[in-house]
Amino acid sequence: MNKKKLFSLLPSVDEVLNDKTIIELIEEYPRSLVVDTIRKNINSIRKTIINLKEEQAEDFSIDYDKFIKAIVNELTLSYSLSLKKVINATGVVIHTNLGRSLLSDSIKEDVWQVASRYSNLEYDIDKGKRGSRYSHLEDIIKKITGAEDVLVVNNNAAAVLLVLSTMSKNREAIVSRGELVEVGGSFRIPKVMEESGTILKEIGATNKTHLRDYEEAINENTGVLLKVHTSNYRVLGFTDSVEIDELSKLSKEYDIPVIEDLGSGLFVDISKYGLSYEPTVIDSLRKGADIVTFSGDKILGGPQAGIIVGKKEYIEKMKKNQLTRALRVDKLTIAALEATFRLYLDEQKAVKQIPTLRMLTYSIDELNDKAKRFYEMIKNENLDADIRIEDGHSQVGGGSMPLETIDTKVITVIPNNMGVSELEERLRLSEDSIIARVYDNKYVLDVRTIFDDEFEVISKQLATALK
Ligand SMILES: *Cc1c(COP(=O)(O)O)cnc(C)c1O
Repeated sequence: MNKKKLFSLLPSVDEVLNDKTIIELIEEYPRSLVVDTIRKNINSIRKTIINLKEEQAEDFSIDYDKFIKAIVNELTLSYSLSLKKVINATGVVIHTNLGRSLLSDSIKEDVWQVASRYSNLEYDIDKGKRGSRYSHLEDIIKKITGAEDVLVVNNNAAAVLLVLSTMSKNREAIVSRGELVEVGGSFRIPKVMEESGTILKEIGATNKTHLRDYEEAINENTGVLLKVHTSNYRVLGFTDSVEIDELSKLSKEYDIPVIEDLGSGLFVDISKYGLSYEPTVIDSLRKGADIVTFSGDKILGGPQAGIIVGKKEYIEKMKKNQLTRALRVDKLTIAALEATFRLYLDEQKAVKQIPTLRMLTYSIDELNDKAKRFYEMIKNENLDADIRIEDGHSQVGGGSMPLETIDTKVITVIPNNMGVSELEERLRLSEDSIIARVYDNKYVLDVRTIFDDEFEVISKQLATALK
């Protein structure tokens, strides 16, 4: 075919707009975007034809189906949201990079009601006048923690900042060197303390701090004693640290408040479920912490938030701190947090319905059943690969319980016709964004963090990737 003839065969934008597939697309995507994409694809073929030599033109033809497919693909890509669902097959339950905690399905309606309609966010219905956004969380959190008062801010880093700024500004906060933690990207306890205007008084050595170290550091300018839960690392070996109950005695003796930054907000004694013991918020308060701070989206399993509980006299002051306005939470957070906390009124319900707790407390039999169901589904695809169910290790994640690896069941895939990292990349870049680990030259899917309704799409994507 000569070039002139080829040009004449190029469809016009209007012609393409009448294509059956494209008509359907216009239902779903903005018309202007569809038109632009069509025009771009026609121009791209026109350019190809322009660049053809006459003898090449002889063998060239316009593949109309391929042309339409390219338009569909381009549209899907350019219209998809940047923040989207992925499949977490890593076995890291509280995966900060993958969104940390997952909200319970059972609170969907509660959150959406408040999000999509007017609400009593800052309105007291009984009195018919202005109310406080924090009031909605007070009753439920007090009930569950037994604390005198509560304040909720943007995240736990903000909680620590607000607590120190209120209770220890221009004064010293005594903290053990073994507890000067960095969590995630850039949250460093020492830096946050500086920002709050507190003077950091480091005591003890990295591996050992004694009660007398605290006592010797106390002077007339001491603001608070601070204990930070070393939630993402452990100092192992020849170690010693002072527990909150001992610190509390000292704090009473010298009339200096003691604060504990717990990191994870735990309300269920997870040692019952085979995990090692971690201090709960209730324990910390009972053992004498005046103020405890923790995250909403670590083990608690709620939305991102920083929760401050403890003595009313201190929390009253925090409420008046100007920083509180800058750190405040929005209504979606309040709605999700209140509904999540309500699940904790019944521990069985919390463990069953909050995904983070559910995933952490699976029994090995349940995981085995999950793995078998998943395996059968993958087997049906007759993949060109060696597929097995094997024992593996999951992690709590989110800087919680760093040494804890939990026994799990994994599906391993060794492809016959490509490298393991190639397979990993194909699945990661697939439409379903499957994030998994490569270990020991195997592609490893940990069933602990995979929802049952995701088994099928993973099986299908494996089949596509291995073709
Ligand atoms: C995770 C963590 C924080 C930070 O909490 P965010 O909610 O991520 O701001 C602070 N302190 C400790 C001990 C933590 O484990």
